[in-house]
Amino acid sequence: MKSIKELDKAYVAGTYGRFDILLDSAKDGKMCGEDKEYIDFGTGIGVSAFGACDSAWVDAVCAQAGKLSHTSNLYYTAPCAELAQMLCERTGMKKVFFGNSGAEANECAIKCARKYSHDKYGNDRKTVVTLINSFHGRTLLTLAATGQDVFHQYFGPFPEGFRYVPANDLDALKVALTDDVCAFMFECVQGEGGVNCLDGEYLRAAEALCREKDILLICDEVQTGNGRTGSLYAYSQFGITPDIVSTAKGLGGGLPIGACLMGETVENTLTPSTHGSTFGGNPIACAGAISIISRLTDDYLSDISARAAYLWDRLGSLGFIQGISGLGFMIGLVLSDGMDTKEFINACAERGLLVLSAKTKVRLLPPLNTSIETIDKAIEIMTAAAESIK
Ligand SMILES: *Cc1c(COP(=O)(O)O)cnc(C)c1O
Repeated sequence: MKSIKELDKAYVAGTYGRFDILLDSAKDGKMCGEDKEYIDFGTGIGVSAFGACDSAWVDAVCAQAGKLSHTSNLYYTAPCAELAQMLCERTGMKKVFFGNSGAEANECAIKCARKYSHDKYGNDRKTVVTLINSFHGRTLLTLAATGQDVFHQYFGPFPEGFRYVPANDLDALKVALTDDVCAFMFECVQGEGGVNCLDGEYLRAAEALCREKDILLICDEVQTGNGRTGSLYAYSQFGITPDIVSTAKGLGGGLPIGACLMGETVENTLTPSTHGSTFGGNPIACAGAISIISRLTDDYLSDISARAAYLWDRLGSLGFIQGISGLGFMIGLVLSDGMDTKEFINACAERGLLVLSAKTKVRLLPPLNTSIETIDKAIEIMTAAAESIK
């Protein structure tokens, strides 16, 4: 009989470079493999907000699964309506469209911005300006939106209408915001691009420039959102108010869900039959998301920030770390010269700690409820891992 790893290699599309690790179950922020437990500082790329299988989330999801699993969007259901209300009341946004992934949330955001512009100004104002090193998804449209040349291969022709500018360069943005532009799209902290935190002054000036020309601000909070950076959404820490916010990853706590939040300017832009999704707003996924968002109270968000500050502090004192970037529990690490990121990540895994990479950096996305004790343990493992590959 073939092993699971052999089956996977034989039958699952070869799009992923997997670690040589088979995971079987999860409990209390730990992943259980074949022969060891792992502290999970990757959370399935920022998805398992309170750790995989956290008990409040499991209870919410199981209760909903036993009550009403799926209806399609032809009917009203409570979890969908209540989650939308929760997101709007917490952010001041007006309407929510639910999809199933980050890419879908961004598709909705871009479609919404283009239709807003079409309705008001006609057909010649469809360009979306995005940032170099951004990441917005894997569909053709969101690949086109992604400001990295490596993603613009093989699959063309890509949809037109994107222009890329360097982050934190206001002059370049000024030049790019010509009369054909309907929106400026960005991540407050670029995740896949290397955990690069944007400059607040730049974003506030960018917002002012966009307001002058009725250009919409689209904030991609797929990775930064839902408590990850210490606020419900990262943009609030940068002093800006986007017209459209897309989010996914941590929102569902482990089930696929994406959301596009629309502010006052665009609340009535998407009208019946202009957009849709069969699975979007699924009751089980929404019940899981309600269990996540309802725990992210202002008090709890301060608590996340305090524990994140402790982690930053501990990381800052490690001799093998040359630089730390990011915000809150979204952290990028530059290792000392000569230390290989991949080797370090493997050495951590061997010692029972799962971490991620982003470009050449090590990336940490720990569960939002990570305790001080677990942080200390993770620091110990990272220290031993670094020692082992010196
Ligand atoms: C992960 C990610 C996406 C894509 O999300 P999927 O759920 O994989 O489609 C989009 N934008 C950002 C900022 C992301 O981190």
